Amino acid sequence: MIVFKKIEDLNKHLFRLKEAGKTIGFVPTMGALHEGHISLIKLAQSHSDYTVCSIFVNPTQFNDENDFKKYPNRIDQDIHLLASQKTDILFLPSVNEMYPNGTSHLKSYQLGYLENLLEGVSRPGHYQGVCLIVDRLLSIIDPDFLFLGQKDFQQIMVIKKMIALKEHRTEVIIAPTQRDPNGLANSSRNLRLSEKEKQLATGIFKSLTFIKDNFKKRTVSELIKNAGDILIKNHFHPIDYISIADAKTLQPITIDHDNNPDGVIALIAAYMGDVRLIDNMLL
Ligand code: AMP
Repeated sequence: MIVFKKIEDLNKHLFRLKEAGKTIGFVPTMGALHEGHISLIKLAQSHSDYTVCSIFVNPTQFNDENDFKKYPNRIDQDIHLLASQKTDILFLPSVNEMYPNGTSHLKSYQLGYLENLLEGVSRPGHYQGVCLIVDRLLSIIDPDFLFLGQKDFQQIMVIKKMIALKEHRTEVIIAPTQRDPNGLANSSRNLRLSEKEKQLATGIFKSLTFIKDNFKKRTVSELIKNAGDILIKNHFHPIDYISIADAKTLQPITIDHDNNPDGVIALIAAYMGDVRLIDNMLL
């Protein structure tokens, strides 16, 4: 694995690969890598000649200073893990390399209603930061394929919108959410949970599974109430949102037992202690 810290060096290397007609798959991450990230790397390897992974804890996407400060950093372990997976290239830039003009006075993206629901409401400015960094990374790497996890379902929609706005040529490929055997979705933030909290945190998966199993049997408001009760029983507090929504628009569904051809998705965000966790499930 070759590690690049400078855009210029990475560009030179990628230029040679592209000139030789090689395809590039790209997996952006914020590090503290887990099985979810590794599944993206494997998917990228199966689709492309060369795989680039980036690790960059992007300051502009954190609306909560404390969340940014406490974001796990395990760079030595991450490098070792990526190398053991035979990742071709790791891009590991500094904040200065990615934001040479600082992080104030940044451009913004017309994301429309996507910023006005769910994560957009709970984390103001978050998706502008996500777009800034992914736009910049795509401009640098110009990959054939971009690999994203279903775990961040709304983020996929936001990034697709940015890609359309900026006319990047990259094709987005989605990987399913990887989970612990007990259902807890793999997340870098799980490192901040105690063993007891990790056990309780399976409550999100239990709530989502409950909604899925009972979707045809109960009303939407009953499902949301029951899912909330499961979260409360598992010590989640506060609950940010429980939404049962159209999978294409993320607008909450209003019809009970909806047979929506675009699919229906349940999405949850809630706090376990001071750790904010999100997850979703297609119904
Ligand atoms: P992050 O490092 O959390 O910014 O995530 C980097 C990428 O990994 C994003 O595309 C995430 O959606 C994806 N990802 C995070 N957790 C999982 C998971 N449990 N399963 C699959 N992909 C994931």
